Amino acid sequence: MSSSTEGRLAGKVAIVTGGAMGQGAGICRAFVAEGARTVIADVAADEGAALAAELEASHPGMARFAHHDVSDEGSWTSLVAETSEQWGPVSVLANNAGVLRFGQVERQDVADLELMFRVNQLGCFLGMKAVARTMRKNGGGSIINASSTEGLGGMAGVVAYGATKFAIRGMTKGASHELGPHGIRVNSVHPGMIDTPMTRQHGGDAAMEYGAAKVPMRRVGHPADVAPLYVYLASDESTYVNGAEIAVDGGVSATHAFGG
Ligand code: NAD
Repeated sequence: MSSSTEGRLAGKVAIVTGGAMGQGAGICRAFVAEGARTVIADVAADEGAALAAELEASHPGMARFAHHDVSDEGSWTSLVAETSEQWGPVSVLANNAGVLRFGQVERQDVADLELMFRVNQLGCFLGMKAVARTMRKNGGGSIINASSTEGLGGMAGVVAYGATKFAIRGMTKGASHELGPHGIRVNSVHPGMIDTPMTRQHGGDAAMEYGAAKVPMRRVGHPADVAPLYVYLASDESTYVNGAEIAVDGGVSATHAFGG
């Protein structure tokens, strides 16, 4: 598929936060391939501009990079206004940006905790706030919030990160009720261990091997495993899916601690 009139997301206008790398880049590639005009919204300017150039070369007029900090409400206001002006009202928001700082309860820096709260939790909330009005005025839309398996169960060493991911899952439920009557669907996605810069920076290949051994499918996931779920939730194929939490984790969350 190669234009905004073809594909499962034909005619959609999407914002993908954290779109410059990792899962976000996979989502941007899949959205553009399925016909959505896509804004790669990220603080990582070099990576975001490079991805926009790559997508523009293969799908002219379908992608652009916007420097955007999800924790800054003013940045959201400009992003949504500029996108609407250029391409029309935003119909899909993938609230994917996130940061991970490991830390035991006794040792986690408050600064790390505050960073995760601002980017993961506040950023997700501000995104929903920024697009809700335009989606409501234009007959609806789809908001997809990146939680995690850490938003479904607890794990040592990620108590603070997990708090933000449980918050995203909770905010999704409430927002699905509040915005559903306006045709806006809000769902959360719960990836397991995905091979991205976020996970690679904490142990490289050894971390991937360690993670893979714990997954029923005996491998970690890749951005290409996750992106199709975002396409489905962004598309009109999921018009009755609202307030759902969907794991894409190779089965890792399908047991309890004794079964792991
Ligand atoms: P990543 O670190 O590879 O990419 C995250 C992106 O978010 C980067 O491009 C980064 O620049 C961007 N970002 C960071 N702070 C930002 C800000 N303030 N404003 C805008 N963009 C910002 O991470 P990933 O693995 O691709 O993770 C994507 C999402 O999935 C995150 O919400 C993460 O918490 C979640 N997740 C990741 C995993 C995993 O194993 N990788 C598992 C479950 C959930």
